[in-house]
Amino acid sequence: MGSKVDLDQVLIDVLDESMSNDHVKIIKKLSEPKHDEDIADELGIKATVVRTLLNDLHAKGLVEYERIKNKKTGWYTYLWKKREDKIDDYLEDYLQESLKRLNSQIESERNTIFFECSCSRVPMERAMELNFVCPKCNGEFKEVNSSKSTRQLNREIAKINKILKKKK
Ligand SMILES: [Zn+2]
Repeated sequence: MGSKVDLDQVLIDVLDESMSNDHVKIIKKLSEPKHDEDIADELGIKATVVRTLLNDLHAKGLVEYERIKNKKTGWYTYLWKKREDKIDDYLEDYLQESLKRLNSQIESERNTIFFECSCSRVPMERAMELNFVCPKCNGEFKEVNSSKSTRQLNREIAKINKILKKKK
């Protein structure tokens, strides 16, 4: 594998970050169209929970369903499918948003001196208000070496750009 970009893994990471690990489990089960009850059986979770997760994914346009009437019982069942085209758009949008966020973080790193303790990171004015002691962990706020965090941000930006290039 090395530094090769695995797009399936990227999708999993993005869904995990933007929705939840349970949504990832549902998407993974939809390599072929399935009924919600079957997904529930396979995952060993309640059908009502599966439906809620599917509805979340549907709200984001990542899945669609076909309503099928059972001729014997007259009841409806729902056959769920992944929308590959929309998933791709979602991924693209999410990554573009992340890029914007990282770029503005870099911008603010350049213009602001940050302080951090073991649990938080605050601008200098806030650290001064708190007398350089974190109210949450009681730790001392120390000045952040911003070139280090800028490097980290640049690495993340490079990673996303690589994924976006690969997608084209
Ligand atoms: Zn703290």
